[in-house]
Amino acid sequence: MLAELRAMRAADLPTHGGRTLAYVYDSGLDGVDELAASAYALASSANALDPTAFPSLLRMENEVAGAAAALLGGDGETAGTVTSGGTESCLLAVLAAREARPEIGEPSMVLPETAHAAFHKAAHLFGVRAVEVPVDPSTFRADPAAMAAAIDETTVLVVASAPSYAHGVLDPIAPIAAAAAARGVRMHVDACVGGWVLPYLRRAGHPVPEFGFGVAGVTSVSVDLHKYAYCPKGVSVLLHRSAELRRPQYFASARWPGYTMLNTTMQSTRSGGPLAAAWAVLRHVGDDGYLGLAERAGAATAEIAAGIEEVDGLRLVAKPDSTLLAVSTSDGAAFDLFTVADEMRARGWYVQPQFARGPSPVNLHLTITAANRGHETEFLADLRASVDEARARGPVRVDEDVLESVRALDPDALTSEQFAGLLDAAGMGAGSTPPERMAEVNTLLAAAPEPLRERLLLEFLGLLYRHGTNG
Ligand SMILES: *Cc1c(COP(=O)(O)O)cnc(C)c1O
Repeated sequence: MLAELRAMRAADLPTHGGRTLAYVYDSGLDGVDELAASAYALASSANALDPTAFPSLLRMENEVAGAAAALLGGDGETAGTVTSGGTESCLLAVLAAREARPEIGEPSMVLPETAHAAFHKAAHLFGVRAVEVPVDPSTFRADPAAMAAAIDETTVLVVASAPSYAHGVLDPIAPIAAAAAARGVRMHVDACVGGWVLPYLRRAGHPVPEFGFGVAGVTSVSVDLHKYAYCPKGVSVLLHRSAELRRPQYFASARWPGYTMLNTTMQSTRSGGPLAAAWAVLRHVGDDGYLGLAERAGAATAEIAAGIEEVDGLRLVAKPDSTLLAVSTSDGAAFDLFTVADEMRARGWYVQPQFARGPSPVNLHLTITAANRGHETEFLADLRASVDEARARGPVRVDEDVLESVRALDPDALTSEQFAGLLDAAGMGAGSTPPERMAEVNTLLAAAPEPLRERLLLEFLGLLYRHGTNG
């Protein structure tokens, strides 16, 4: 079975070596994975559903949350929860904010248009209206005055990112938090991706403004340990400024004949595995270790960013504040970015296409980690070669009639069968192996209005996840 599993895993994108520049984070340190796997195995059958039954998990959770609080400007009052990931942390921040204001009939939250989609999921699940505020179109940072102006009587939460995933820039946390505090509204800083790297970059001398509990008015902060803390997947921390602010996030039900269900998160049974792995990795890598990892990721980011600006036809969408880059084409560049992504894939790199939205042009996302240090030249050489090849190949050819009909489709008027036909036509149908080159599919998806793109991809997902097929 393990041999079979290894063989299956060999067809996945590599999770180590820095060649997959989204989804995965590699410290490049020897022994971290083995330690994490052993710790995971030791605790994976224990259940954090009842911390009194498994005091080891209670202790580890308090220690992990305490470490996060110490890093993010918290103190003895800061109250945390270990969750399964960034989305769950963001969901719970929204839920706690809504539950704390039961008198507001139709609650809303104010977020920059660059906020993570996790907040739209929270809006969808919890009936909290998302009020999207335009960002500064040149820096992609939230506009504090516009954010302040968007707060009204229904606002239960204001959100900002440190940094945003799509552009890697820090929103101006202090003025936004001040505006929220002035209206008596909670303010969540989404530091899911930056929370474990920015404080160390600051320590290493990078100009990183305060973004955590050191900023007045910030009431909660999320940080994912499965990102720049380089822990195995399934672990994030949500911190509140006080236990009182955390309290409405909790859920209890005595309304059944079984045990009184007491939940701190969306989950009820909660494996001790991810928590124990994170606890072990945090202790093992330690403060000095994370400082070194942040320095390596920061240096790799600077070198790759500088190299990209030298490539004829490429530019950075925003000046990066962290270790994430968004790469677009310069004005008048005559090649297709989706083709560049395909060419990078053919050269063994995964870069993540991001569609245009508002002021944000179509671009390629790069999450740079410590493992990229020392391999910047390799990456840049392949990127140059990919751009050259994309130029040689010319524009992506998608039938103009097809594009027209995609633009005109009403997703609400189509059945799943009709969608299956569309996906077939796009080479994404049931049983079709994913195309080597995604540029055509991405061009079609880019042309689709957002609701249609969402629906197309959901129907595609439904086709993927069917037993009896083997993907
Ligand atoms: C990754 C990320 C999230 C969501 O985290 P998941 O662990 O993927 O659920 C939320 N916000 C930001 C800024 C992120 O980068």
